[in-house]
Amino acid sequence: MINQYLKTENSFLVIAGPCSIESEAQMRELLSSDGFPKVVRGGLYKMRTRPDSFQGMREQGTQLVHKLQQEQGFEFVTEISDPRQIEMLDPITSIYQVGTRNMYNYELLKELASIGKPVMLKRGFSATVKEWLGAAEYLAELGEENIILCERGIRTFESSLRNTLDLGSVIYLKEHTKFKVIVDPSHAMGDARYVRSASLASLAAGADGILIEVHPEPRNALSDAQQALNIDEFQSLQRELSAMGQVLGKEVL
Ligand code: PEP
Ligand code: MN
Repeated sequence: MINQYLKTENSFLVIAGPCSIESEAQMRELLSSDGFPKVVRGGLYKMRTRPDSFQGMREQGTQLVHKLQQEQGFEFVTEISDPRQIEMLDPITSIYQVGTRNMYNYELLKELASIGKPVMLKRGFSATVKEWLGAAEYLAELGEENIILCERGIRTFESSLRNTLDLGSVIYLKEHTKFKVIVDPSHAMGDARYVRSASLASLAAGADGILIEVHPEPRNALSDAQQALNIDEFQSLQRELSAMGQVLGKEVL
């Protein structure tokens, strides 16, 4: 599914899942919900702002994902922050996510370039588009079809929202590069109430997909609780994206 998507144009990939993988029950509830995407996100090695926050299920979570994949056959996208995680993550991962805190970690990028799997490179929170594209150059060995850029909002003087969603960057990158460009409306907005509009706007701006946080019980999430959609909200967003995709000639996957 992902390989096909990376080779074709005019499709809009929805990657959804929790900020952090927390338990088997959490993942089963998401995976068994109607129309849940076949490409699932979920943090295992979390990059938290404070060391006393939940750091992710790590190795134990890797085993859980492996077991669920064997049963249910979904593709998995997860953040990697250190090359020492490759051994655990490689068997379960279809796309390596490099987070905003690691966009400038060029040694990590070089290591990922040598593995050969697609990489989703998030924009550093203070990175210009030029710096972001410079970081993407470190992945050039993968071929441009295997490099996905993810706009996740940047830091500006504006403080009403968690970040400032720079849809201009999406429009610019679609015009000037061949990379797939996706948007993370969850981290950009930081509040579940605004994620729907930001998702629809991303599709309208020409993005190739979204990476979105969904949790069966957002209030109880161990990370980013305020920005996760619940399953109903996510399903209704999926319907709206599909309808809008038809108008724009994009197939929503
Ligand atoms: C994430 O996607 O869970 C995440 C931590 O994102 P970012 O690196 O954009 O903050
Ligand atoms: Mn998150």
